[in-house]
Amino acid sequence: MKHLPRILVVEDEPAIAELISVNLRHSGFAAVWAADGAAAQHEIDSALPDAILLDWMLPGPSGIALARRWRADPRTKAVPILMLTAKGDEPDKVAGLDAGADDYITKPFSTQEMLARIRAVLRRRAPERAEDAVSIGELALNGATHRVSWQGQPVKVGPTEFKLLQYLMKHPERVHSRQQLLDKVWGDHVFIEERTVDVHVKRLREALGPEAGAMIETVRGVGYRVTAQPQAAAAPPRQRTG
Ligand code: CA
Repeated sequence: MKHLPRILVVEDEPAIAELISVNLRHSGFAAVWAADGAAAQHEIDSALPDAILLDWMLPGPSGIALARRWRADPRTKAVPILMLTAKGDEPDKVAGLDAGADDYITKPFSTQEMLARIRAVLRRRAPERAEDAVSIGELALNGATHRVSWQGQPVKVGPTEFKLLQYLMKHPERVHSRQQLLDKVWGDHVFIEERTVDVHVKRLREALGPEAGAMIETVRGVGYRVTAQPQAAAAPPRQRTG
């Protein structure tokens, strides 16, 4: 029997939890619902989920306290966590990422967005290899040859921009804070201002040109992400859930 990825939904509002669970099941996931931290811990103790959808505001320990706890626990350390946050709560998003969440989803969110983000975190569980080739849409990057191309044409980027693009492309559709990018791209031991990230993103966009450059999105108050579908492009109407 095929293993269905098991998603633990930690959400205290039954209507939202039900809607999420139904959509997950329709899309080939096994959904398990827990209404608070204690119930979630009970589920985790009985079977480790493949990913956790974690509401921020919960009775008892908050989502952020739970994210910290599960990140610190060797058993749950590698389980992807997606935080559910209230609309426009920018400091929450940063705090969620700092607490160890892999991504966040803002309520109200579309079902398609939620499914895309879950699939993305599950893909990212596969171990990384620096020499891998990666492509998103018509943007391609080869780690072995250190080449970047857009629509088959080579693009010249500087070494820091290459590393930045490589990291973003290997972790697409998720937002990375400036501090996370400094840690992952520049390394833990450097002391650089966060503004440096902005400078290199600007250079990278200029090197890529307007179309490919638009794939590197600024998420206000949070950081950057690479997306196959830039929000500047026309988006089809989506069913929204909240
Ligand atoms: Ca809640």
